[in-house]
Amino acid sequence: MIAQNLHHVQARIADACGKARRPSDAVTLLAVSKTFGPEAVQEAYAAGQTRFGENYIQEAVQKITALRHLPLQWHCIGPIQSNKTRVVAEHFDWVHTVDRLKIAQRLSEQRPPHLPALQVCIQVNVDGGATKSGVAPQDALVLAQQVAALPGLRLRGVMSIPEPATDFIAACAVFAMARGLFDALNAHGLGLDTLSMGMSADLEAAVHEGSTMVRVGSAIFGGRG
Ligand SMILES: *Cc1c(COP(=O)(O)O)cnc(C)c1O
Repeated sequence: MIAQNLHHVQARIADACGKARRPSDAVTLLAVSKTFGPEAVQEAYAAGQTRFGENYIQEAVQKITALRHLPLQWHCIGPIQSNKTRVVAEHFDWVHTVDRLKIAQRLSEQRPPHLPALQVCIQVNVDGGATKSGVAPQDALVLAQQVAALPGLRLRGVMSIPEPATDFIAACAVFAMARGLFDALNAHGLGLDTLSMGMSADLEAAVHEGSTMVRVGSAIFGGRG
């Protein structure tokens, strides 16, 4: 079932790339395995998936530890409190949800020196939801420049979780704002290569607007109840 779902999602991505006249390898699939156990991750791995996204730190660390024998890449895509930065810095390969300097500084200080740099995206609140996490677009450049200067981290790009849109056109409009910000940061020489946006319901719109990494959970693993 997971293998079939994975192939279906890959086909959706390839189709969206084709429609956007982008090469089919322009978009990386991150499988969001939150709330599913290590067996589900293992099943996806057997079907060829190696990159996994997790929201809840404690749950993730259990899975990462249980699956240490597999060559998996783990991405933290959930909110990070200050008291969780050490465990994140010690276990993950990527963090998509850096939205303030304090968190980035702690990750930088706590990244174990024997590990490669932690790959980081700045989470941006493009559609301005007042209660949402993510740096405001007008503050993203300063934060990105500060993060790019921290040892132990490598700034890779921008991540966004817009509110679900009512249709394709509306979704595209919001993703285009994230793309615009990504381009603006690169115009300042930040050399970003990752635009993390798009989920099960809206990956086509995200790919249309230039996403390079879609984070897909339910379309692969099923509903989370
Ligand atoms: C849960 C989650 C996803 C995956 O959502 P689906 O709708 O299940 O594909 C992607 N990104 C983030 C940040 C999430 O929390």
